[in-house]
Amino acid sequence: MPANPLRDLPSVDAVLREQDAEELIGAHGRKPTTDAVRAVLQRAREQGTPLTAAEVVAGAADLLTRPPSLRRVINATGVIVHTNLGRAPLAAEALSHITDTAAGYSTLEYDLDAGRRGSRHQHLGALLRELTGAEDGLAVNNNAAAVLLCLAATARGGEVLISRGELIEIGDGFRIPDILVQSGARLVEVGTTNRTRLADYERAFTPETRAVLRVHQSNFRVVGFTERPELAALAAVAAERGVPLIDDLGSGQLLDLPDLLDEPTARASVEAGAALVCFSGDKLLGGPQAGIVVGTAVAVERVRRHPLQRALRIDKLSLAGLEATLRLYRDPTQAVRGIPVLAMAAEPVEAVRARAAALAERLGGTVVDSVARIGGGAVPLLELPSAACALSGGEGLAARLRASDPPVIARIHEGEVLLDCRTLSDDDCRLITL
Ligand SMILES: *Cc1c(COP(=O)(O)O)cnc(C)c1O
Repeated sequence: MPANPLRDLPSVDAVLREQDAEELIGAHGRKPTTDAVRAVLQRAREQGTPLTAAEVVAGAADLLTRPPSLRRVINATGVIVHTNLGRAPLAAEALSHITDTAAGYSTLEYDLDAGRRGSRHQHLGALLRELTGAEDGLAVNNNAAAVLLCLAATARGGEVLISRGELIEIGDGFRIPDILVQSGARLVEVGTTNRTRLADYERAFTPETRAVLRVHQSNFRVVGFTERPELAALAAVAAERGVPLIDDLGSGQLLDLPDLLDEPTARASVEAGAALVCFSGDKLLGGPQAGIVVGTAVAVERVRRHPLQRALRIDKLSLAGLEATLRLYRDPTQAVRGIPVLAMAAEPVEAVRARAAALAERLGGTVVDSVARIGGGAVPLLELPSAACALSGGEGLAARLRASDPPVIARIHEGEVLLDCRTLSDDDCRLITL
C-alpha cells in the first residue's frame, strides 16, 4: 500500500518546538508564526505533499517574510503613464505634502479662520480657478467618477446628446454608454462614426435634452474622412438651447505644450464655453488618482450638491497630493521640471541615451534606439525618441528581473530584453542588477 503522505505531516505543536520556529516567534510573534505554520500544513495536506517539521518551518518563514502584495517596481518599459504600474509617479512636493498632512490631523474639513467645520472642496477651488480660468472646480475619486457625477447631476431622467464617434471604451470596461445608463440619463446618438456635424446635434434636441456630452478620443484616432464641430460652436448651440455642454477630456492637461504633448488643455475647453470639464489627476497631470471637474459656478455647484458626490469624493491622501501637484503648475518651468510625468516626457533624448550607455556598460549590454510612449490612453500616436540598454537573455532574463528586489519590469523586443531609460531615473538604474 502506498504511504499516506498526510500521516507524515508533523503536528503544529511539533513544528513550533523546532529551534528555528522559536526564532520565527521571536521575530514575528507567536500568533503570526502559528498561523503561518497552519497555512503551510494546510497547503501540504491539500496537495498531498509530505513535509518534515524543518520544512514546514522554512515554508512558514517564507510566508512571514513575504513582501507586501502592492510593492514598488522599477518601470523600464518606456511607457510613462503605465496603467498597470500605478500610472503617474508623484512629485517630491506631493509626497511630502501627503506625509505632512496625513501623519497627524489636518484642515481636511476645517475652516481655520472661522474655527469651525469647513469643506474638503475649499482646498482646490482657488487653484483650479487660477489654472483653468473656470469659475469653480472640485475633485472626486477619479475621472470615471467625475463623468458619472456630471451626468447624474445634469441629466438624470433626461436625454444626453453624444456623437457616434465618441461612444468609446477607455479600458478596463469603462464604456461611455454604460456610464450614461448608470447616471440615469438616456443616450441619444448623433451623426456617424467618422463624421458628425453641428446640424446633426441641432436636429437631435428635444424638450427632454438635458446635456450635450463631448468625449475626447483618448486612446485612438480616426483619420481620413472625418469631421466634428469645433467645441466653441457646439457649446454655443448647447447654450442657445439652455443645456450644459460636458467635456470629458480624459487625460487633459493644464499647460499648453504643443511641441511636446498634443492633448487639449482644460483652459481651452473652459474658454470654448463648456459648462463642465472633466479630466484625470493621474494621467498627464502627473498627480494622484483623482477626477477633476471645473466649469461655471452654477454647474459645479449642482455637481457638488448631488448625493453621489459624497460616495465618489476624493480621500485626504489624494487631496494632499493633488493640491501640491497643482501648486507646482503655477510656475510652468517648475511644473515641467518637478512633475515626473512631464519631466520624463520632456527630457532630451541625449540625456536618456547617456543613462542607457552607463547602464549598458555596467550590465554588459548594448545601447539601442527605442521608442517611448506617454501611455494611459493619452496622445496614442506620439512616439518619444528614447534609448534603451539591450540585453540578450529573452523571457528568462525578463522573469529574473521581475523576481529581483525591487522588481524590474522590462520590454522584450525580438528576443532581447530592453531597459528603456526614458522611464528610469539614475537612482532606478543603480538598483538594477543581473
Ligand atoms: C481615462 C479616461 C477616463 C477615465 O479616467 P480615470 O481617471 O481613469 O477614471 C474617462 N474618459 C476618458 C476620455 C479617458 O481617457
